[in-house]
Parts: sequence; C-alpha cells; structure tokens
Amino acid sequence: MSLTAIRHWVFDMDGTLTVAVHDFAAIREALEIPPSDDILTHLAALPAAEAAAKHAWLLEHERDLAIGSQAAVGAVELVRELAGRGCQLGILTRNARELAHVTLQAIGLADCFAEQYVLGRDEAPPKPHPGGLLKLAEAWNVAPSEMVMVGDYRFDLDCGRAAGSRTILVNLPDNPWPELTDWHAADCRALQALLRQG
Ligand SMILES: [Mg+2]
Repeated sequence: MSLTAIRHWVFDMDGTLTVAVHDFAAIREALEIPPSDDILTHLAALPAAEAAAKHAWLLEHERDLAIGSQAAVGAVELVRELAGRGCQLGILTRNARELAHVTLQAIGLADCFAEQYVLGRDEAPPKPHPGGLLKLAEAWNVAPSEMVMVGDYRFDLDCGRAAGSRTILVNLPDNPWPELTDWHAADCRALQALLRQG
C-alpha cells in the first residue's frame, strides 16, 4: 500500500506533532514513582485518593507544558496537507484530551482534528494497547489495516502493530525498531516529501 492510498491517519502528539518537552524523570521524582515504572501504570495501581491527587498534579504540570507547546518540524504543513486531501485525522495520546486540545491550539492545528477523534488517557487504554486505534477504526468504519499510526516512540509502533494498522516512525534520525515500522522519516517534513512522491 502506498502512503497516498492511506486515508486514515492517527498521530501521537507529544514528540510527534510537538517538540518533546516532558521531563519524565522530574515527573517521576515529584510523584515518587520509581525510575523504571511506567507513570500511568504506576498511578493506576495506587489507592484511589493518592492516585487522584497525583493525577491532579500531573494535569496541572502538563497544562503548563501544553500552553507553551511548539510544533515539530513540518508537523503543521503535513497535517494541513492531509486535511486538504480529505483524510480522516485522529490523535491517540497518553496525555489528557483537554490538554491535547490546548496543545493543538498552541501549535495552530486545533481545526484539523474533530474532538471525538482525539483520544486521550481517559478515552482509550494507554498505548501500546491497541484499544484507541480500534475505537477510531470503528468510528471511521474502516479496517485497521487501512489506518496508519504515526509516532516517535516504540509504544506508538507497538500499538499500530497490535491493532493491525500501518506504522510510521518520525523524529528519530535512526530507526531502532525496523521490524515494527512500515515507513520511517526523519521528521514530518520528510514524511510530507514521501507522501508527495506517492
Ligand atoms: Mg510521543
């Protein structure tokens, strides 16, 4: 399948459409999460009151980051081109939906993504779980194999593979996970160039 034949695109947000700014080590330290633990998984296992307090802290911290978001190289142009081609566009992020919207506004892409196709950590199980992609496939009434997941990290690729979708890795100069990747582009500008080649 060629890139131009793909009409359903799902993007990771942080580090894919934006310049990555999360300092996960600092977040773990502030929330007393061991360095090797996944943040959301760790919070999910805590007693309810503690989990709620830590989620609230995380949301505030991430809100500050979201307001100051900067677009990744070529991200705005790529998404606008896809929107112009009439592609369906979605976001699957481990961030909160509300903050995804703040972020998309900050980088000037809020009009390209319908709210119901922006799935945050309360709308879908966190990647690498494929649930979010499968939810979008159902909403769009397409087979997962006709969708592509674009991301900058292994979780994005694993999620795409688990759903049976195509995968694209961006924003890493070398690809550490070729077996999980259908296309690799150094950044979204290079991906847009690939798209234009057909
Ligand atoms: Mg990312």
